[in-house]
Amino acid sequence: MSRTGILLLVSGPSGSGKTTLCRRLADEEEAHYSISCTTRAPRDGEVNGKDYHFLDRDDFTKRIQNGNFLEHAEVHGNHYGTLKSEVLNYISKGVDVVMDIDVQGATLVRACEDPEIQTALTDLFVMPPSNGELRARLTGRGTDTDDIIALRMKNALDEIEHWPSYSYRLLSATREEDYTRFKSLIISERLRISRLIA
Ligand code: 5GP
Repeated sequence: MSRTGILLLVSGPSGSGKTTLCRRLADEEEAHYSISCTTRAPRDGEVNGKDYHFLDRDDFTKRIQNGNFLEHAEVHGNHYGTLKSEVLNYISKGVDVVMDIDVQGATLVRACEDPEIQTALTDLFVMPPSNGELRARLTGRGTDTDDIIALRMKNALDEIEHWPSYSYRLLSATREEDYTRFKSLIISERLRISRLIA
């Protein structure tokens, strides 16, 4: 008996540690990390085609018109989108996909009527332990200006309001504890009968 893949949506404010969790799961070859398209500029050390597909606005608009996106949304003044090819090709082959996505994008994927997506879907909200710790984490990254940090703090607090829409919530503690709980989630989801193929 084989199974179709899981589509694990992971949301949470900047500084919640969600990207690190998703990346580590992919590095350990437990899941494919869905590489998004974005119109934002690369941060220091980010690599095109690995962290994101960095596109200009015209290219992004063309991809919308061509129907390439499963979902797309504007976040912090930039456009972000998930390519259908980053998801559908994998889940149909039984490969699990993990996706770092904002709350608007998660709402759009949940509303998607494609039965393959609906069967694959599960979602997790990663929450910082406290507002003080969130502020410390947003400041500590050191790659953004004060204005951007202030905007992200406001957006983070707004984003946190959406956690009740998710199936699972992870209240962040240490990196190792977070990862242990995160990995257990995907391991448990693999037991779900609805994804088994007789
Ligand atoms: P960052 O610019 O810090 O990498 O990401 C900013 C926000 O965009 C994060 O909340 C992240 O989860 C979200 N994001 C990343 N990729 C996508 C995507 O493909 N679609 C949507 N809707 N949001 C995304």
